[in-house]
Amino acid sequence: MPPSLSMSPRKPYPSLGKCIYCLKKFQPIELKKEHIVPLGLNGIWVIKEATCEPCRRLTSEGYENDAMQTSFLLPRLMLELKRRKKTAKKLPIAYSEYTAHLASVGHLDPLELELSQYPPIVQFPDFKNAAGKLIGIDHTNMFNGEIRFWFRNVSDLINYRSNPPPGKTSIREVTKPGAMATTVAKIAYCFAVAERGLEAFHGDEIRQLLRCERDDVFNFFGATLTGESLPSGRLHWIATRERGSFMTVIVHLFSSLGAPTYEVVVGSI
Ligand SMILES: [Zn+2]
Repeated sequence: MPPSLSMSPRKPYPSLGKCIYCLKKFQPIELKKEHIVPLGLNGIWVIKEATCEPCRRLTSEGYENDAMQTSFLLPRLMLELKRRKKTAKKLPIAYSEYTAHLASVGHLDPLELELSQYPPIVQFPDFKNAAGKLIGIDHTNMFNGEIRFWFRNVSDLINYRSNPPPGKTSIREVTKPGAMATTVAKIAYCFAVAERGLEAFHGDEIRQLLRCERDDVFNFFGATLTGESLPSGRLHWIATRERGSFMTVIVHLFSSLGAPTYEVVVGSI
């Protein structure tokens, strides 16, 4: 059987009576539902009446849209996950030469390729370090080469036969680890709030992060502390944990494909 590309069904979580990001009270009609995992990643779990319009805009335009158009773009297109708008596919730029060693590709002509001409490979960052808060190290300026990439050939999951052009092709994918990590932090926070409620942990700091009032995402986000992975029968799997004085959430996106697992500190308890 091919790996699952859907989540297990779950009833909508009830509204918490206020915006889960700014905690301000609104009339129910002014609050929008929130997908715990973005719809564009086939996320189907929702919290009813969860976010006000200003916070919805901050979370979408601040990082989630960026993550969906970079780190998650090829997986979404190749695995044919849900898309809100059937707009033209904007694919990463490809070249007819090996470019990994080049700092600048300005002198090269990009290739015009169809999606089916891309190698059927998805990749996700695999972080070596757990969140700064969990290991007691300030990761405010963390970018020290501690990221590897996990790859998977997805030709068993896609209908098209990959048909690359002859010769070498290299794909320049834009990666925005910060946007991707903040999007995973948002998934973790939404899940913790849905499952445990707003009072179960002190979430002021992660709410600042998710409203773009701070940018030290790697203090909140990282590899799992214990290296554990979650059941892989479904596309995504999420679970809360208690680590000393912190509540954390293990987020295993693309778990059925064997992708890396992440852990997010949502707050102290
Ligand atoms: Zn709000």
